[in-house]
Amino acid sequence: MVHADGSVIKSWDYLRQNGLQGFIDIWPIPTAVAWKLIACFGAFEAALQLLLPGKRVEGPISPTGHRPVYKANGVASYAVTLITYLSLWWFGIFNPTIVYDHLGEIYSALIFGSFIFCIFLYIKGHLAPSSTDSGSCGNIIIDFYWGMELYPRIGKNFDIKVFTNCRFGMMSWAVLAVTYCIKQYEANGKVEDSMLVNTILMLIYVTKFFLWEAGYWSTMDIAHDRAGFYICWGCLVWVPSVYTSPGMYLVNHPVHLGTQLALFILAAGILCIYINYDCDRQRQEFRRTNGRCLVWGKAPSKIVASYTTSSGETKQSLLLTSGWWGLARHFHYVPEILAAFFWTVPALFNHFLPYFYVIFLTILLFDRAKRDDDRCRSKYGKYWKIYCQKVPYRIIPGIY
Ligand code: NDP
Repeated sequence: MVHADGSVIKSWDYLRQNGLQGFIDIWPIPTAVAWKLIACFGAFEAALQLLLPGKRVEGPISPTGHRPVYKANGVASYAVTLITYLSLWWFGIFNPTIVYDHLGEIYSALIFGSFIFCIFLYIKGHLAPSSTDSGSCGNIIIDFYWGMELYPRIGKNFDIKVFTNCRFGMMSWAVLAVTYCIKQYEANGKVEDSMLVNTILMLIYVTKFFLWEAGYWSTMDIAHDRAGFYICWGCLVWVPSVYTSPGMYLVNHPVHLGTQLALFILAAGILCIYINYDCDRQRQEFRRTNGRCLVWGKAPSKIVASYTTSSGETKQSLLLTSGWWGLARHFHYVPEILAAFFWTVPALFNHFLPYFYVIFLTILLFDRAKRDDDRCRSKYGKYWKIYCQKVPYRIIPGIY
């Protein structure tokens, strides 16, 4: 994003000429500044998670019958973080450009530091699991990769996955989006419209995430995927680096879009973020009210699906088959991918690199839809089959 003009071909040529030594030469080594910045951010977010007040929220019942309880203080943490960061800059106490100037070292430190953290999660899962939702599958690599514990905590209240996924990963996304904007402003004396569109869309997306954070606690990431390398390393490293990368690219590749085009991209991006939000909201509202709600102005159509828990109990869930959830079984991934496209396209098409995130996200979500389908098929059996007959497409209506 920063060197070789953000060109994959130039980077490839460099590596071909200089080989492994060339790679080692350009790999940023974690520095004391990088560790300090990460430690300050992590400690600040952990303190907000623990100390800020919030409503008591219950997560979904796990397969072993455990129900996690959370403190919903995400919006307050998000507001305090952004206000503090901008105030530090405004009053000249800390310049966010320092973060941008040390990003390589920061990411390098995150890569290694988070790996060590995942080893800690693995050992904790063996020695001191926080709840009954833990255990080994007998294979050390799989245990490390997929994780040992579903709901690891430090003490009774500090939820590790809320920290890694929400308060570190998603929060760093907003902080870095603002950082890129400030860096471009300080370097060029102005912020280009392309950067503004990118930053506004990313901030709307992350704001939406924190407004809906308690809903996120009942999604696959939290309620099904255990705390291991896959989800925790991903949120600690991949989210700050890859998810924010279109903004990072724009810092030193300013593009002038013109008001009309900028507004068009902004409106399209906001619409996609809204539809994605509305899909999640519709499903959660439908479940919360036990199907006694309106979906697109009508009584919802549904399947009453029963399933057996691992302890042998029979339970029931409702599957919504109208509204967004009647278009395709994972239609909500379409606006998610399009939103990412719209906050990337201000970079126009000079280089491939800023589009890496959209391509990665498309692969991730297509894989996730398949994993979720497989899990639901084994959970709901014939009821899932009925759902698939009623709603035959997995993601894109009429196509896939
Ligand atoms: P969800 O967990 O929110 O939804 C899938 C679950 O919902 C299923 O496992 C099933 O769980 C239940 N379900 C499935 N079909 C129905 C239905 N018809 N009616 C009611 N419930 C149903 O999905 P995700 O976690 O994948 O997505 C949540 C949000 O996060 C989305 O907005 C998505 O776009 C976003 N996301 C973003 C990513 C990124 O990297 N940017 C990555 C992943 C997600 P149950 O066992 O309860 O029945």
